[in-house]
Amino acid sequence: MKHHHIGIGMTSQRTRERLIQRLQEEGIRNMALLEIMRNTPRHIFVDEALASRAYEDTALPIGHGQTISQPYIVARMTEALIGTNPGAAPLANVLEIGTGSGYQTAILARLVEQVYSVERIDPLIKLARQRFSELGLRNIRLKHADGILGWPEYAPYDGIIVTAAPSEVPMALLEQLAMGGRLIIPVGAPVEPNGRAQTLLRITRTPEGFQQEKLDAVSFVPLVSGRDYSRV
Ligand code: SAH
Repeated sequence: MKHHHIGIGMTSQRTRERLIQRLQEEGIRNMALLEIMRNTPRHIFVDEALASRAYEDTALPIGHGQTISQPYIVARMTEALIGTNPGAAPLANVLEIGTGSGYQTAILARLVEQVYSVERIDPLIKLARQRFSELGLRNIRLKHADGILGWPEYAPYDGIIVTAAPSEVPMALLEQLAMGGRLIIPVGAPVEPNGRAQTLLRITRTPEGFQQEKLDAVSFVPLVSGRDYSRV
């Protein structure tokens, strides 16, 4: 680990512990997931200037008008995907749309066999890739593309997690879901900061068709079509 991470790593142990307790109080039950969230340093996924706030249960800016998701939301979406039983067989392949900081990706990578993640802003992919190598995570494949189209090459997926909100569920993502597979996705109109006008859905593909459950009222950045070519 790089030198500048050491100090914060030492001082954040107690705040990390508090965060895990809070997630449990909020209803997260999968102990394998909680353990991985305890052991995955969130401060390396944000700018150094924000590192001291990394273990608060809030979203934080990551540049380009985007945010790292709130830890509770990461836990909730992951549990909605893998279930509450820590002993369940790991999913073979999961697709994430919206790599962002890579934090949700890193949590998934330690719980499933292979993660594919698509991001439309190239500089975010480069930063995320450095973080995965720093953490020794090798089961992640990244692509700079419009995630509304999914990632057809590796479909079908046991699970798909979308970390930005479209106004409607993209057809391609439904098509790329395996039988029995689950799509976790926030859907709704763009919202003002701290508004919660979107609904987190879990859509399961069954032989009879797609089953939809409403999970939570949430607030995500919008899913935007097309790639972004900014260089900063
Ligand atoms: N899971 C990330 C969330 C980042 S915010 C984290 O916790 O850090 C959502 C991300 O989705 C942003 O990085 C944004 O650029 C990306 N995004 C938005 N629309 C997209 C699209 N059509 N395809 C791929 N990524 C998209």
